[in-house]
Amino acid sequence: MDVSRRKFLSIGGAGALGGTALGGSTLGFDLRAAQEVKQQLRIAGAKVSRTICPYCAVGCAMLAYTKKKDDGHTELLQIEGDPDSPVNEGRLCPKGATALELGVSRRRVPYPMYRAPGQANWQRLSWEEALNRLARNIKRSRDNTFITEDADGNTVNRCEGIAFAGGAAFSSEEGYFATKVMRGLGVVHIEQQARV
Ligand code: SF4
Repeated sequence: MDVSRRKFLSIGGAGALGGTALGGSTLGFDLRAAQEVKQQLRIAGAKVSRTICPYCAVGCAMLAYTKKKDDGHTELLQIEGDPDSPVNEGRLCPKGATALELGVSRRRVPYPMYRAPGQANWQRLSWEEALNRLARNIKRSRDNTFITEDADGNTVNRCEGIAFAGGAAFSSEEGYFATKVMRGLGVVHIEQQARV
């Protein structure tokens, strides 16, 4: 089988797969090295940002590579494990390794969806409709479940009908802000997925 270097680099992902299956070297090429060359070409000149995997409480650190396109939009090119992190030392589990798809997958739903109680179908909402609905529901739940005094007559001023759970992708500032908003509403059931 005659495969030129140019053709090999163009098949990229398939080459990496073959490298794994065939022990990293075949057809006269070092497949892993070729894959690395291709990745370097792809991310050359890209901006590197540090972030945290949003999927689970392990909190693996990631490097995200982005580049500004000619039309002004920023393109997410690659996400990989951060070798400087003491948590994951550059590694990602299979789930974290697919995190790029969170940003670029064509199957991603980029707008709010709503399924009414008892209904099987989802309907698309505008962001304004979704945020208004959210605000109304929060107010109604808070009004209905706010407690000013406990059973012993102590002033407590708390809302027991709303719970809030933060995600592992929260930055410190986002976590601080979310906690402030929830405490301001009197919410006491506040939890955070991450333990980092
Ligand atoms: S890479 Fe895997 S183990 Fe690490 S935080 Fe993400 S999902 Fe959890």
